Amino acid sequence: MLSFLSLSVRFNISFGPLIKNLLTFLDSIQEDLIFPLFVYEDEHAYKQSLNSGYMNNSKVFSKNLITRFEELAQLKISNLLLFGIPTKRDSLGSESFNKNGVIQRTIQTIRETFDKKFNILSDVCVCQYNTSGHCGITSGFQVAANQPMNEMMIENDKTLNILGKISLSLCESGTDFIAPSSMMDGQVLYLSNLMEKSGFKKVKIMSYSAKHNSCLYSPFRNYNYHKNSFLDKSSYQSNFNNLRESMREILYDIREGSDWVMIKPSLWYMDILSIAKNLIEVPLVVQNVSGEYALLKGGSKLDKIDQREWIIHYFKSLRRAGADKIISYLVLDLFVESEGSPKSFI
Ligand SMILES: [Zn+2]
Repeated sequence: MLSFLSLSVRFNISFGPLIKNLLTFLDSIQEDLIFPLFVYEDEHAYKQSLNSGYMNNSKVFSKNLITRFEELAQLKISNLLLFGIPTKRDSLGSESFNKNGVIQRTIQTIRETFDKKFNILSDVCVCQYNTSGHCGITSGFQVAANQPMNEMMIENDKTLNILGKISLSLCESGTDFIAPSSMMDGQVLYLSNLMEKSGFKKVKIMSYSAKHNSCLYSPFRNYNYHKNSFLDKSSYQSNFNNLRESMREILYDIREGSDWVMIKPSLWYMDILSIAKNLIEVPLVVQNVSGEYALLKGGSKLDKIDQREWIIHYFKSLRRAGADKIISYLVLDLFVESEGSPKSFI
């Protein structure tokens, strides 16, 4: 692949409108793109996950952090949303608020090595740290993998307590944003009060306000979760077919103190994005998820579509619909297209 330097030198000679379009587009949107990155604490789990051959660029083993971040800096990717994949899980998800947990150490390492070069947004949830895979603390028994929710309770207030501990540990490590994603009632108010009381007023909140219960998450769940079985999150995630509920969640989060609000997934939710944009003034974020990534990558693999053209069109359409910021696994593909791929990206 060509390096950025050679692209620049040859720019006037042979580059067609598409590359020029890409470079101009990247200039205009660079600051508003956010790349999700999963940090694996355990090397075996990391290597096993690579076997899936899926979203591998968004995974890093914790011991390879510095090299990976140097490469991201080289690509001019500076906004990162971090998720941790711990070695151990338990019923409470205790590793999520361990001061030496995988994400806490990651943030400390980035700050020590790169100072403020990266804007760090950190996910706040328990689902990748607990044994149930749910976004809250559960009570009751799960007799079968697909047991209905009425036989198992999500403990909202107990979860808030854990989310508070996670958030404080992330703030102490040096995160710029906390990103509560568990969809518990009152989570933004609880966390904003707690952070203010604890002296972390400057750390911002990006809430997953309208995180819809959607089949578009299925590739991620199949590859990354502790259990491959179906998890019914419909009792706490937004109904994808209830626009009023989505808008209510967004407005509540703003009232509770969220600095940025987010809608997830993106493609089939542009109507919600567009309506929200006309109602609110805080930055509106949209997250492109694994199913949307799979659709585009699948088309590209079959040689049916031009990946670069589709990503640009896709991101521009999200902008048109109202997205101020875009979180996407495709961010890296876009930057690699423009600058050449560092070796460790697959
Ligand atoms: Zn979760």
